[in-house]
Amino acid sequence: MSFSNLGLSDKVLAAVAATGYTTPTPIQEQAIPHVLARRDVLGIAQTGTGKTAAFVLPMLTLLEKGRARALMPRTLILEPTRELAAQVKENFDKYGAGQKLNVALLIGGVSFGDQDMKLSRGVDVLIATPGRLLDHTERGKLLLTGVELLVIDEADRMLDMGFIPDIERICKLVPFTRQTLFFTATMPPEIRRITETFLHNPVKVEVSKPATAAVTVTQSQVSVGREAHEKRDMLRQLLRNAKDLKNAIIFCNRKRDVAILYKSLQKHGFSVCALHGDMDQSARMAALDQFRKGELPLLVASDVAARGLDIPEVSHVFNFDVPHHPDDYVHRIGRTGRAGRLGSAVSIVSPADQKSLLAIEKLIGQPIAPLEGAPVVNTDTASADDAPAPRAGRASDGRKPRREGSQRSPRGSRSKSRKPDTTEIAAPPQTPSFGRAPIPVAPRDHHAEPADHSHLPAFLLRPIRARG
Ligand code: AMP
Repeated sequence: MSFSNLGLSDKVLAAVAATGYTTPTPIQEQAIPHVLARRDVLGIAQTGTGKTAAFVLPMLTLLEKGRARALMPRTLILEPTRELAAQVKENFDKYGAGQKLNVALLIGGVSFGDQDMKLSRGVDVLIATPGRLLDHTERGKLLLTGVELLVIDEADRMLDMGFIPDIERICKLVPFTRQTLFFTATMPPEIRRITETFLHNPVKVEVSKPATAAVTVTQSQVSVGREAHEKRDMLRQLLRNAKDLKNAIIFCNRKRDVAILYKSLQKHGFSVCALHGDMDQSARMAALDQFRKGELPLLVASDVAARGLDIPEVSHVFNFDVPHHPDDYVHRIGRTGRAGRLGSAVSIVSPADQKSLLAIEKLIGQPIAPLEGAPVVNTDTASADDAPAPRAGRASDGRKPRREGSQRSPRGSRSKSRKPDTTEIAAPPQTPSFGRAPIPVAPRDHHAEPADHSHLPAFLLRPIRARG
């Protein structure tokens, strides 16, 4: 099968050829002809399957006819995060270079004034996060009555983030007769209900999960105790000892912990950047860019922030926390071992993570083996690292989900054992200090070598703090 058999326009085929893609992926092959035939599509597929082009390419073909009117976008794409929205826009820029289409991004962190101006000029493709979109409609600066085609992408992630009420509101603001393309990686009951309500006789297109494909990923686990610093200590040792580590994504369950870990790794001299929902748009983009270019080879991230990002060639994934949703595990480890490359995924498992680990092993249908030659962590609380305590009262789930895009923070998951510390840090700086020259991924550290310190008083074992 080649792209030319799918019914795409000559302009679009030329743009695809220019990117060097010769064969459509299964989701593209199955979905594109139906999109062009104006059918509703229910696509069950994850990122990494080529699903973005599966809707962008036929949309570009359909949009060649007709013109945009002021304040009334012709098509609307809903994405759960700003990064995903920006990535979809990049796809339109790439494949639509030969067309004079107005593509606008409505995401938080960008001024309303600039966005209003773009909308008033008429928009062919509007890519938005649900909260920001509703802000604009409520201000009367946007009419959805001209939308001919609606794309709801990463629907199960929208569910996790509490966006489903917003999606339902938006679906009622667009014409009943529109075409709808709906993508989700999983089909929980709530998502099934939405598809039954808002899709009209959809064609169902399903492609296999990366979980079955990613046989090139070596999965392993290491155990640590209850103390929060043990995880950080273990992670540092894993980073120092990892074989063939080129770059890594380190996943935390909560964005507060992303901030803490980022700061801790930085203090220990690692070249690291962070990605979580509280950072402003430019800081997120800057971090991603540095990571993609390899200037900062370690990325600490939450699931929400990292979902669906197209980051090629990640050699390692570390689960600093075992994810609460087994699907997230599959998604995380799918970041490595792509396109037949070898990858490694190591989960750091504390007693509190055991239940989640069992659920994951059940989902993937195999046990996750202990890491061979796993490092031994220092369990002495007195020698805990210098990770700062979170700012009091700044829980990760403290705000309205649609404003913040926060992850769910299950009750009881808060670590009671975090060492009290007077240093205050809340989030990575909005513009992290990228100015300095990159330093190696795994610097040597003052307590890197295991040694018998049992005869020494605890205060002598305390690591020297880096100041300034
Ligand atoms: P997505 O699932 O949309 O995030 O796409 C994952 C990656 O696959 C992106 O880097 C795309 O540029 C790439 N891609 C999309 N379609 C094709 C194709 N037909 N052949 C090769 N790579 C593709």
